[in-house]
Amino acid sequence: MPDKVAKNVVVSVQYKLWLDDENTLIEESDSDDPMVYLHGHDNIITGLERALEGLKVGDRKTVRLSAEDAYGEYDSEGVEVLDRAQLPPDLEPEEGMLLQIIDDDGGETVAEIVEVTDETITLDFNHPLAGEALRFEVEVTGLRSPTPEELAHGHVHQHGHHH
Ligand code: ZN
Repeated sequence: MPDKVAKNVVVSVQYKLWLDDENTLIEESDSDDPMVYLHGHDNIITGLERALEGLKVGDRKTVRLSAEDAYGEYDSEGVEVLDRAQLPPDLEPEEGMLLQIIDDDGGETVAEIVEVTDETITLDFNHPLAGEALRFEVEVTGLRSPTPEELAHGHVHQHGHHH
C-alpha cells in the first residue's frame, strides 16, 4: 500500500472549498463520501494536486491558491456575442442559463448566458470561479494503489464512473 500521496496513487480527500477573499464556503465533501482521484494525472486543479504531494493519511492542510493557480484570471475576451439565428430553434435562452458547447475538436465547454436581446445572446466562457482566490482545507483519508485499468485510463473507477 502506498504510504504517501505520489504519482499513480489513488487518494481520498475530505475538503472544504472557500472563496478566500470573502471567506465564503462554496463546496464541501460529504463526511462519508470523500473526493477520490488518481494523483499525477491532472484530474484535479494543478495547484491543489501539487500541495497534496507527499501527505500521509490523517494529514490536514490549508491550501491557498491565487486565481491564476486555480481557475485562471477572469478573461474579458472569453465573452462572445452570438446572433440568435445561430442558436438551435428550440432553445429559449435566459440570462443565467448554462449551455454545453461542443467545439470543432469535440471538446466540451460550458458557457453562461449573461445577456439576451431580441437579436443576440452574450456568452461568458470563463469558469464560474475564474478570478477567485480559493482556499481548500483538506484532510487525506485514504491511499491505495490503482487497478491496472484505472492506471491505463488515468482516472479512478468508482462513484458511478462508467464507460
Ligand atoms: Zn476509465
